[in-house]
Amino acid sequence: MNSDCLFCAIAAGDIPADIVHRDDRVIAFRDIDPKAPVHVLVVPTAHHATAADMGTADPELSGRVLAVAGEVAAAEGIAESGYRIVANTGDAAGQTVHHVHVHVLGGRDLTWPPG
Ligand code: AMP
Ligand code: ZN
Repeated sequence: MNSDCLFCAIAAGDIPADIVHRDDRVIAFRDIDPKAPVHVLVVPTAHHATAADMGTADPELSGRVLAVAGEVAAAEGIAESGYRIVANTGDAAGQTVHHVHVHVLGGRDLTWPPG
């Protein structure tokens, strides 16, 4: 737990969120500023700054995060239509919360390439 970290605080229950999944290592909650009809963030409760850091430190956890992303997509009804998973990493990609999170975006047609 990083005391200055927003997503550590949400994982600890200190800051409320619209949580759609919680297990012993991973939570998922709706983005407060959704960019698509479905926009859920999948977040490990352990603090890792980036997806790369998590992938190096804890490959099993990385797999769990991706599995939950798929479960969320199914539960939200976008698994068949298609959806996007995104892990913005670093300043040039617009990462604003430095606790790894996978965006699950869907419910509309998503253009490619992204902005
Ligand atoms: P990123 O810019 O990739 O780091 O994504 C951070 C995301 O966290 C943004 O899409 C924000 O809208 C979202 N966000 C920020 N604060 C909250 C919050 N309190 N609850 C839910 N989502 C949040
Ligand atoms: Zn954190």
